[in-house]
Amino acid sequence: MAAKYSLQPNEVVFLKDESVMHGGFWSAYTDELMLTNLNLVLIKKGLFGNSKGITTFPVNQIKVYNQQAQAVIGKATNGSDLLEVYFLNGQEKFAFQSGGKKKLTEWIAKIHQAVTGEEAPAPQNTGRALPGAEMVAGVLKDTLDVFKSKLATKPATPMKVAGKCRGCGAPMAGVQGQTIICSYCDSAQQL
Ligand SMILES: [Zn+2]
Repeated sequence: MAAKYSLQPNEVVFLKDESVMHGGFWSAYTDELMLTNLNLVLIKKGLFGNSKGITTFPVNQIKVYNQQAQAVIGKATNGSDLLEVYFLNGQEKFAFQSGGKKKLTEWIAKIHQAVTGEEAPAPQNTGRALPGAEMVAGVLKDTLDVFKSKLATKPATPMKVAGKCRGCGAPMAGVQGQTIICSYCDSAQQL
């Protein structure tokens, strides 16, 4: 059974790499990692290319601090460079078989773009992600701000409600908060 990731109609692929290791227990570079505008998708594969399941990490769960998505170059226990991504509920590490720092920088820039919808700002001197727990409040605020500004573009769907006329008991329906006039007794009331 080959697990395959299906893109949403509004989902596009930014980056993809086929020789990736994930997690702390390194075995082999057998997984596939994909970044879309909505998710970081990990397709776990066995040694023979058989699919072992898909994990999706929504990009709107990635922390943002100072307008920077929290994806950084980290170090594996063996000293090699890897990609570290900080989510609201934890941290994920991905190591690539080839490409070195250049590839990691490319992933970081694209993750930033997926999270904020903007091109990455000029890189800062500090390679550090989160200096400490005191930053968490700021991170949450920035993350929510980005999320809110994304939501703000979506029009609110009005809620349809049904009720009874308070004057005569006739059934009436409309949009919540709207004032309508009963067609039986002509009394105006808010739903
Ligand atoms: Zn009425």
